[in-house]
Order: sequence, then structure tokens, then C-alpha cells
Amino acid sequence: MTETRVKRARRCTVHVDDRVCDGCEVCVYLCKPAVFELSSELNRRGVYPALPRHAEHCNNCRLCVLGCPQLAIAVFAVDDADDAGSTERAQP
Ligand code: SF4
Ligand code: SF4
Repeated sequence: MTETRVKRARRCTVHVDDRVCDGCEVCVYLCKPAVFELSSELNRRGVYPALPRHAEHCNNCRLCVLGCPQLAIAVFAVDDADDAGSTERAQP
């Protein structure tokens, strides 16, 4: 019997809800791979919200999710081997 193992690449998508982000920069300092930058444009709250500009570097550590005081961040692991492109919520 032959067994074939397929290594599944994992990547993440990172979302910031700029309706609640208050631009505190906690995520900028927590994220070692430097996924976040502050926007150069004000949001509706009159602050510069965080943007996940480099989500391709995300390692799914979830520090940003746990550290954001506004609960504005969601990180999803994406399975590249899934043809449907479905996502699953990252687990703690
Ligand atoms: S930690 Fe949360 S509230 Fe603070 S800048 Fe990042 S996303 Fe916005
Ligand atoms: S899950 Fe970790 S690596 Fe990914 S954006 Fe958040 S802090 Fe950065």
C-alpha cells in the first residue's frame, strides 16, 4: 500500500474593522512580522486606523487578536489546498 502525503500550505488573511479601530497601534507593536501599518487616511472616528498591509507575512500567532483593546482584528487561516478557497477561524 502506498501512501501519498500532501503538504498543505497555510496562509492567513487578516481583517481590521476600521469602524471600531481607534488607532492605538498596539497591533503594530505586537506583530513581529510587521503586518500592520497605520493608514494615512482618517476613519469615521477621526483616527488613523491600522491596516493589515503585509498579511502575507502573518504567522497566525494571534497576538494581535488577543491584544487589540477594541476587538477589531480577525485572523483567518486559509488552506491553499482547498479548491473552494474556504476559510476557517484561527483557533487559540
Ligand atoms: S490594536 Fe486594534 S484598535 Fe489598536 S490600532 Fe490595532 S486594530 Fe486598531
Ligand atoms: S496573527 Fe500574529 S503574525 Fe498575524 S497579524 Fe496578528 S500578530 Fe501579526
